[in-house]
Amino acid sequence: MAPPRTYRCEAITLSHTPLGEADLLVTMYTRDQGKVRAVGKGARRSTSKLMGHLEPLTIVKLSLAHGRNMDVISQAEVVDGFATLKGDLTAIAKGQYLAELVGGFGAEESANPGLFQLMIDTLRAVAANPQSDTPLRFFELHLLQVSGLSPELYQCVECRVELEPGAHRFSPNVGGTLCLECSPDDAHLRPLSLRALKILRHFDRSNIYEACNIAIDDELAEELKSLLLTTVSYWLGKEIRSNSFLERLHNESLSEV
Ligand SMILES: [Zn+2]
Repeated sequence: MAPPRTYRCEAITLSHTPLGEADLLVTMYTRDQGKVRAVGKGARRSTSKLMGHLEPLTIVKLSLAHGRNMDVISQAEVVDGFATLKGDLTAIAKGQYLAELVGGFGAEESANPGLFQLMIDTLRAVAANPQSDTPLRFFELHLLQVSGLSPELYQCVECRVELEPGAHRFSPNVGGTLCLECSPDDAHLRPLSLRALKILRHFDRSNIYEACNIAIDDELAEELKSLLLTTVSYWLGKEIRSNSFLERLHNESLSEV
């Protein structure tokens, strides 16, 4: 019998669950193959060479062998374990939120290097400033873009008129901004302030480091969060589970002020 084909890949681990007596089932997002689920044989044994290398939110270089049902991880080398991020509960919660969305939007056997890089850039931005929510908002908008679901931000999606400065509306499900005259059937319309529109356009044109340099007050932050979360949840087709823990941390931090 021919030996199983092996391959190497760079991945960011998203989550893992125990499997059998000592194995780990690892879900990861790879640069070249999209979402991959693979088994770390014996990875929960303290003597395993894989021990500690497959923790969620770790960039790893892996050697894998194609298995009958699932690929098997034979070697793992940590590229970045995000030690700073893992020392902060809020940053961990944000990392889990990113991991859930990458797992939800990322397809198996379909590479999306833009999504892979977005995840890594956002984790670095979260690690640099765990208290800021701006990296998450940038991530949500760009997640939609790299997934082919880019919301319109410059014209009315219905009549195609260029939007003048002013108050407009936004619909997660019909594809973005709308003028005040158009109300397509079934559009989940919500108000969109000029300030929020400007920030969305700034995110659209910037990299994450430029985006995170802009000051956003609490009211504007809430509007952006509500708009982008609603849009991402709509396309995901379900509630984002890790967001409830993030919200709890957020509310606790408010009550401490
Ligand atoms: Zn219109």
